[in-house]
Amino acid sequence: MKVFSHIPDIKEFLHSQKKLNHSIGFVPTMGALHQGHLSLIERAKKENEVCTCSIFVNPIQFNNPEDLTRYPIQTDKDLNMLEKQGCDVVFCPDNNEMYPQPVTKKYDFGALEKVMEGASRPGHFNGVAIVVKRLFEIIEPDNAYFGEKDFQQLQIIRFLVKNEKIPVNIVPCPIIRDYDGLALSSRNALLSEHDRRIAPEIAAVLKECSTLAGELSVIELKAFVCTKISGFPEFRPDYFEIADEDTLQPVNSWADSKNIRAFIAVYLNKVRLIDNIRIIL
Ligand code: AMP
Repeated sequence: MKVFSHIPDIKEFLHSQKKLNHSIGFVPTMGALHQGHLSLIERAKKENEVCTCSIFVNPIQFNNPEDLTRYPIQTDKDLNMLEKQGCDVVFCPDNNEMYPQPVTKKYDFGALEKVMEGASRPGHFNGVAIVVKRLFEIIEPDNAYFGEKDFQQLQIIRFLVKNEKIPVNIVPCPIIRDYDGLALSSRNALLSEHDRRIAPEIAAVLKECSTLAGELSVIELKAFVCTKISGFPEFRPDYFEIADEDTLQPVNSWADSKNIRAFIAVYLNKVRLIDNIRIIL
């Protein structure tokens, strides 16, 4: 496995691979890797000659400075995991490498960024878009892999790629969950033992949503979720939305869209957890 931290070096290596007609698969991450990330690596490996992963905790996508300070970093462990998984190339730049000059770019994602994560975390998606565009310029991947765990992010990236005419195929990958249903996340490591036991309740409530969707109206289902979540005083709910998968705009009735997802974000003490599930009527 080759590990690069400088842009010209990784570019040179990947260009040599392209000359051999090898396709490049790319998995951008912020490290603290778990099986969710590794499932993306596995897919990228299967579908490309060269599997590339980046590890970079992108400071400009953190709207909350404390969240950035607390973000888990375990690069040596990550590199071991990637090597075991058969990843070919890893890019681990530092902040200066990625942002030699101050960043000023402002993207407009329209209605996509006005809801859910976009509304709760001002500037977050702008920071995500800047780093992903920059990484795409460096790696020039044929295929890039993103988890549906961050479903709104996936739609923002699709929008970015289309609008900026970036020649990359975006591959969505299913959410990987722990044994008790909790969606894997690097932030789960920050949960206390007590909170880790309660955390799977958000996945459980989403699962109930998908079962009850046929019986209850959208409004009734929202009320059901509110009641369920308020039964756990540890949760500080941020949002629960039922929205169209493509536009991410809330639906008022099941007939409003063919592709509907339920989205949830809660705080458990200082840890913010998000999850979503496709609603099949
Ligand atoms: P992050 O390191 O949190 O920026 O995540 C890097 C990539 O891994 C993103 O595309 C995430 O959506 C994806 N990812 C994170 N957690 C999971 C999970 N539990 N299942 C599938 N993909 C995930």
